[in-house]
Amino acid sequence: MLLIPGRAGDATTSDKALELMAELRAAPEARHSRIVALVPTGCHPLAASLLDMGANDVIVGDADLGEWALRMTRQIQRKQAIDQLRTRLHDGLRAAMIDPLTGLYNRRFAMPFLREQVTTRAPEAREFAVMVADLDHFKHINDTHGHATGDRVLCHVADILGQSVREGDLVARIGGEEFLIIMPGAGGDEARRTADLLCRQIANTAIMPKGEAGPVHVTISIGVAMGQGGQPLDAATGTLDALMDQADRALYRAKARGRNNVTISARSAA
Ligand code: GH3
Ligand code: MG
Ligand code: MG
Repeated sequence: MLLIPGRAGDATTSDKALELMAELRAAPEARHSRIVALVPTGCHPLAASLLDMGANDVIVGDADLGEWALRMTRQIQRKQAIDQLRTRLHDGLRAAMIDPLTGLYNRRFAMPFLREQVTTRAPEAREFAVMVADLDHFKHINDTHGHATGDRVLCHVADILGQSVREGDLVARIGGEEFLIIMPGAGGDEARRTADLLCRQIANTAIMPKGEAGPVHVTISIGVAMGQGGQPLDAATGTLDALMDQADRALYRAKARGRNNVTISARSAA
């Protein structure tokens, strides 16, 4: 509630009230507030101006208490309804982009992020790394320890990956035991260093899933492809598919070479 003291026809009262209203509407903290202004008796032009400037309601001073209560209650109910709607929309958006098991982004979020790297134009156009990481012999973990432990192992691996990359890099879960890592601005050397580090971090961590008597050891294999920004928009889908294909093929070779290792796509390295 914005209480405007003063008398009808007092220019200073009006100016101050309008100034305050403008400040309130511009303040980020008050973005979702409902504003009810109480103006002195007879200040109808001021009341109209305040409504024009974004007040949700204006009560003129001579209104009786019953009317105050009614109008304040109405504003509170509207705010509650809008807050609930905003929360529902926010939760819905989050659910559409986040993998519920690991809390990482999902494929639906990751692909537009990758497309952005492909199409960003100069001067920001820059190279970037795309990595597909897949847990080695994960079926065996499930078969030995059960699916619930498998889920917990996936969460631990997701945490390690998320904590080992730079701020601004993206880690997403894009399949059952498959993760995508996108490193904007990373060159070949940095990509190789990071992928090696991720491999080592996972292999050297004794994961202790809840409910297990001892540690569970897992390894990952990583296929890396290098991309370059500034690609034409109409070629973006083709470029994106080609990059994912290169990373997948590199991953396949890493698996064939014995797993727990990194392979960089030859096309990228060329
Ligand atoms: P490779 O080294 O060749 O990748 O062997 P792998 O056993 O990891 O690969 P494979 O594709 O044969 O099996 C993947 C397993 O991952 C099978 C499936 O049950 C398991 N898996 C996929 N999604 C989930 C999940 O959300 N939770 C659990 N616990 N297991 C999953
Ligand atoms: Mg696997
Ligand atoms: Mg797999």
